[in-house]
Amino acid sequence: QMHNDIQELRGNIRVFVRTRPFLPGDKQTDESPIDVTPDGESLTILDRRSGSPLDFNFDKVFPPSAGQEVVFDEVSDFIQSALDGYHVCLFSYGQTGSGKTHTMQGCGNGPMRGIIPRSVSKVLDQARAMNKQKWNFTLSASFLEIYNENLKDLLTSMQQSNEKSTSNSNNGSKKLSIKRNREGKSFVDGLTQIPIDVGDSHLGMQQLETLMGVASRSRSVASTKMNSQSSRSHSVFMLHLNGYNEDSGAIVNGNLNLCDLAGSERLDRSGAGADAQRLKETQSINKSLSCLGDVFNALATGASHVPYRNSKLTYLLQDCLSGDGKALMFVNLSPTTASSGESVCSLRFAKRVN
Ligand code: ADP
Ligand code: MG
Repeated sequence: QMHNDIQELRGNIRVFVRTRPFLPGDKQTDESPIDVTPDGESLTILDRRSGSPLDFNFDKVFPPSAGQEVVFDEVSDFIQSALDGYHVCLFSYGQTGSGKTHTMQGCGNGPMRGIIPRSVSKVLDQARAMNKQKWNFTLSASFLEIYNENLKDLLTSMQQSNEKSTSNSNNGSKKLSIKRNREGKSFVDGLTQIPIDVGDSHLGMQQLETLMGVASRSRSVASTKMNSQSSRSHSVFMLHLNGYNEDSGAIVNGNLNLCDLAGSERLDRSGAGADAQRLKETQSINKSLSCLGDVFNALATGASHVPYRNSKLTYLLQDCLSGDGKALMFVNLSPTTASSGESVCSLRFAKRVN
């Protein structure tokens, strides 16, 4: 039984690679060491250390020219399965500056918007379309951050205005904990859930915009205390989907988790030195990213023990990574030669997955 579950899951973890285009801020402006093959499934990267090309193949490899819409087209079926009751998770993995936030969040509400707003928009449209088959959906969103193995609710200030607040009064400084409900599914105790209106897509998208703004302010307040904290923490946007069919009485409870992971760069180079705070950060980032790799690897090789409990991130997302969950990881790469060492590391990390 156990074995079957794992076999099934093996097919469920996908890896997509996305290399961003050169940007005005890059010292180098052309001739990337990364070359995407025309079939869109593999790439060659020139390894600076050995001077030889390395080949990698994945489920999908996007060229730098692939825009937000092209990328979203490739994940939209995945998003759809959250409406079918799956626990779905998308990660973006890569060094700082490689395009993780651009992929997940993007910017504005035009063509540059990323997977989070596009997913919510798609879910709203689909939920309303399913209304014709007597499905009634309710949606709500949460947004949290994992920093130094602590969970922080990024939407507590909205909870107060919603008068849902009971215990969480001191601006998100209360430590949240991950618990299991009766069905054995994980949830974060006390986490703010902001309702998103399904009946009116325009209103729903406005509600999303408001909460994204609140989350981003709540992150930047913290980052003035600890510089560039956001590159050192994981952020997880969660969409909770509850559907009820009036005709059949069927119920679905799906969720969609969109994770912008901490920068994967090797931090020991950056002079953590005697600074205790930095050292603690370094250890917890390395720990949670390596735990994620260990979990992926255990699943990919059919190991009998999957070490979900070794980090907050994997424990939180256990349902997406097990049973009938679905997970997809984006590996984001910078196109520059200076980043090629980190790019090779990211690709090797992803190779443990599939
Ligand atoms: P990360 O979150 O991995 O640190 P960002 O998403 O912030 O990286 O990207 C770094 C910079 O590159 C940002 O200015 C972002 O707008 C830009 N960028 C990233 N990916 C793309 C892309 N595919 N197309 C255009 N600009 C991009
Ligand atoms: Mg970022």
